[in-house]
Amino acid sequence: MAKILVIPGDGIGQEIVAEAVKVLSALQKEGAIALEMDTGLLGGCAVDATGDPYPEETQRKARAADAVLLGAVGGPKWDNLPRPQRPERGLLGIRKDLNLFANLRPAVVYPQLANASTLKADVVAGLDILIVRELTGDIYFGEPRGIETRAVNGKQERVGFNTMIYSESEIRRIAKVAFDAARKRNKRVCSVDKMNVLETTQLWRDVVIETAKEYPDVELSHMLVDNAAMQLVRNPKQFDVIVTGNMFGDILSDEASMLTGSIGMLPSASLDEHGKGMYEPIHGSAPDIAGKNLANPLATILSTAMLLRYSLNNEAAAQRVEAAVSRVLDAGVRTADIWEAGMKKVGTREMGDAVVAAL
Ligand code: NAD
Repeated sequence: MAKILVIPGDGIGQEIVAEAVKVLSALQKEGAIALEMDTGLLGGCAVDATGDPYPEETQRKARAADAVLLGAVGGPKWDNLPRPQRPERGLLGIRKDLNLFANLRPAVVYPQLANASTLKADVVAGLDILIVRELTGDIYFGEPRGIETRAVNGKQERVGFNTMIYSESEIRRIAKVAFDAARKRNKRVCSVDKMNVLETTQLWRDVVIETAKEYPDVELSHMLVDNAAMQLVRNPKQFDVIVTGNMFGDILSDEASMLTGSIGMLPSASLDEHGKGMYEPIHGSAPDIAGKNLANPLATILSTAMLLRYSLNNEAAAQRVEAAVSRVLDAGVRTADIWEAGMKKVGTREMGDAVVAAL
């Protein structure tokens, strides 16, 4: 029986995770999946309860689980705490602790919501791409780093510096995640780098090309990051899987998510080397709408589909959840963030109920 740690977190986290749990429980009830669910604290609520954004009890439960389902953390209440106690430290802490090095972010535009994008509907309708971002290396973690006073052109001034660094093994393991994911999709990988100016990314390109030899059935292409940023807006449907480093991935995955125009619809997965993962919506804790039954729970519900696919290897159950979401959209059921004239406006709980009914 798979062990799932459920972490609602802060703000709308409680509300959206409750709906995702409803969906998992419905599948469990009919015998489609077998789960043992426990809950844990992370972020601001964990600071309030224990003084630590990633308390020891959560650490223990997270390490023992096969997968973690997370809502969101953070909010104005905790913005002025010292850095080690900030809610986002809890998030960074759990990612690091569980060795989650691969971040998978699908950007899918449901035809029913194509008008929500700021791009023309025909550019994005039917879009289905997956961005695979390396999460534990690159300039965000490289040493040396810092701000110090140095002589520049004979004058003392402050200088800021960071180090972009990737090892061969780090590149190879993220490339494998991308090729494996492409095999379950349209079998195309585009690797994004800046090899014309950065040696680190020259190595990136070399190692991706070497790794591709193990995947003769997957087509590999390369693109410089500046061009990739442009192509994502010009013709996003040309891509299937995009694989890139931590910094480029940070920027490109946010750009790609906005192609869809609906932040409340986008799930994500962060995986370790053995398929254990943490699953969460890409949006934050939305304090402006927390506690009002207004939040869209679909990103979190779609995160459970990723959990079923990647950590539980249950493709059939994953597809059922995704199909149920699509059917609910077909029926014109909408939370406020994706509502259009003529559609049926519902709250967080009613949206969760609609997905369970569609299952
Ligand atoms: P946010 O994603 O929480 O909200 C941005 C906007 O989108 C808000 O107007 C919000 O109401 C709306 N929105 C977000 N999710 C929605 C949903 N499911 N349904 C309907 N509308 C939704 O980003 P923010 O306002 O920049 O950050 C708020 C807090 O969340 C901050 O404390 C931030 O640090 C934290 N945050 C957490 C995570 C995370 O836990 N992974 C990610 C981003 C931000």
